[in-house]
Amino acid sequence: MKNRKAPDISNKKPTPQPQLGREQAPAERAGPREGVLSEALRNPGLLRGLAERLKSMPATPATLMEVCGTHTVAIARYGLREALPAGVRLISGPGCPVCVTPQEQIDLFIALGGLEGVTLATFGDMMRVPGTERSLEQARAEGAEVLVVYSPMDAVEAAAGNSDRQVVFFGIGFETTAPAVALAILEAQRRGLHNFSVLCAHKLIPPAMMALLDSEVKVDGFICPGHVSVIIGGDAYRPVAERGKPCVVTGFEPADVLRAVALLLAQIAEGRAEVEVEYSRAVRPEGNRKAQEMLARVFRASDAGWRGLGTIPGSGYELAEEFAEFDASRRFRVDLPPAVEPPGCRCGEVLRGMIDPPECPLFGEACTPRRPVGACMVSSEGACQAHYRYRGEGTAT
Ligand code: SF4
Repeated sequence: MKNRKAPDISNKKPTPQPQLGREQAPAERAGPREGVLSEALRNPGLLRGLAERLKSMPATPATLMEVCGTHTVAIARYGLREALPAGVRLISGPGCPVCVTPQEQIDLFIALGGLEGVTLATFGDMMRVPGTERSLEQARAEGAEVLVVYSPMDAVEAAAGNSDRQVVFFGIGFETTAPAVALAILEAQRRGLHNFSVLCAHKLIPPAMMALLDSEVKVDGFICPGHVSVIIGGDAYRPVAERGKPCVVTGFEPADVLRAVALLLAQIAEGRAEVEVEYSRAVRPEGNRKAQEMLARVFRASDAGWRGLGTIPGSGYELAEEFAEFDASRRFRVDLPPAVEPPGCRCGEVLRGMIDPPECPLFGEACTPRRPVGACMVSSEGACQAHYRYRGEGTAT
């Protein structure tokens, strides 16, 4: 691996800030061919045909949940709800990685930045998420050293180039992001870096879907995330289908999402509950075995706290014993007061699909992307921000 220049870890604000929001999998990185395909999948004629097909389907009242922030944005941006047959509802679930990170973990990460000699490293999306007392952005303004990075490997380089600092990376995100963090930990081990660690807050999607089935939320089928599924494979949703809920893995173009809705409605109408992969150009049933092996080497499944969903068994990662020295929660001890959610914020209900964002009394008034109250309005993939940005438009802008 080539040595890269160690990032400057001064308090300067780098621009532009990298965003975790759209978790991009290697197989789907945009290239010329993907660009042509994307154009084709936004073709108005194709979309009109799909909408007509949907409206001509037998009336099947259904509530379908997407568990992917990129789908949430696509649905809002392209006004896809307008193409749905009567009685069909799309609701957002816990698919935004920034939004589901609970207040306690955000508070802990911010608190680590207050320790002597510690530099925090994070993706840009996390900077404005409110903690109980302050956000990372505010902590930086108050003197904490916070480095915004494009990749976990940048944090490794920061540690390598600044041996007098302890660099702590905030490992958030789903199965899509976790392999890059695993790779960074392996690299830190290879280079014998004792001043790099990860606060591991990764989340796993299938256990969260299973938990939703045991909750008060009524869901008739799932639009499953594309990027996550590149890693874990379509077969990972079988337990959900075995609980009687159809699952369709799909891509991020409007035509992908409309096809997924059609496939789900067909399953519901026919009384089937299966896993179907509409996004077969990127997702295999078994997923990416190499990435899975790396994840299995570096991490162990653990119980994890989710904003709005509480603790879900086996829904997160902790570092395997071999990598314990890179675990920031073991390396540093901080006592924190109980985390407190922003008063009036209903992100928890939004993330469970219990309410649509405009049902929150703060939506669009006290809470806007410019002055967000909750995490779902901060992240570009949060349901509240997606609803706010594209409200009333109904079409792509
Ligand atoms: Fe929270 Fe704002 Fe969304 Fe309300 S509108 S749920 S305050 S993020």
